[in-house]
Amino acid sequence: MTQPKTGKHLLVIGTVAIDSVETPFGKADNVLGGSATYFSIASSFFTSVRLVAVVGEDFPQRHVDLFKKHGVNIDGLVRMKGETFSWKGSYGYDLNVANTLETKLNTLEQFDPELSEEDKRSPFVFLANIDPDLQIKVINQLKNPAFVALDSMNLWIRIKKDSLLKAMSMVNMVVLNEAEAREITGQSNLVKAAKEIKKLGASIVVIKQGEYGSMGVFGNEIFSAPAFPMEDVYDPTGAGDSFAGGMIGYLARQGEINPDTLRQAMIVGSAVASYNVEAFSLERLTQLKFNDIVNRYNEIKRITIFDDFTH
Ligand code: AMP
Repeated sequence: MTQPKTGKHLLVIGTVAIDSVETPFGKADNVLGGSATYFSIASSFFTSVRLVAVVGEDFPQRHVDLFKKHGVNIDGLVRMKGETFSWKGSYGYDLNVANTLETKLNTLEQFDPELSEEDKRSPFVFLANIDPDLQIKVINQLKNPAFVALDSMNLWIRIKKDSLLKAMSMVNMVVLNEAEAREITGQSNLVKAAKEIKKLGASIVVIKQGEYGSMGVFGNEIFSAPAFPMEDVYDPTGAGDSFAGGMIGYLARQGEINPDTLRQAMIVGSAVASYNVEAFSLERLTQLKFNDIVNRYNEIKRITIFDDFTH
């Protein structure tokens, strides 16, 4: 990994949010968040990114400037009358479990994504966590994409399961966390759950396991990617989206999906996510340098590599 931003362009649709988050180590009120926010900033280290999302009249200009600073194309960021989608969450000492305290859909309720001609021709597409009916609307507008991936969350499994299953049958890769994979399949074993999700249509399933890493199932292969062991974790919000942003940004940059690039991409995802949890909101991610990601990637390799058994 030397030269950033040489890859194919990547479209992301998801939420841009105002978050209020409390963890055992502090709190942050009314800060920038949202699935597409974390994803687009994380993936912007690797390739050119186009964002499609909605915000309200209250959305601060400084957040808009942040996307621009990171080279994220925001022609598809619609500003509507009303307030921006907002999410309030908390975490206990088990930082792998997010408790939603409040979700206000606000402008998201009227959002009807209309892709521009350029967006429709995006070779790489990520449908970040958002209403699965909107994810389907976007898929139906795409013209011959090379690779489409999707993420979701427990809320949509509970209130829009049929739509979510349909959306999952229309993509190449499904990314879910372990609790969601179990909930949607009713399988407690994650290998079985991943295989069941794969049967819906996607050839690649990646299950995120928070601080324990992630598991990828592609073809007949299983790859287990470690998380970087962190000593200081302040806020896990956005870890999943920055993992996906690193992983899919790297795939778009390489322009090729095969078991080798997928394994590398999952480690890139681990590296980017490990930085994100070091601070609240996007504070750490927006200070990151490309070489920080490369260094952590190499460090993950160093702490997990071992020789064959010696007789
Ligand atoms: P994660 O990477 O899973 O920690 O994602 C965290 C982000 O998801 C937060 O910044 C929230 O704004 C966003 N979020 C929370 N609830 C929803 C929802 N129902 N739909 C879409 N995005 C959400």
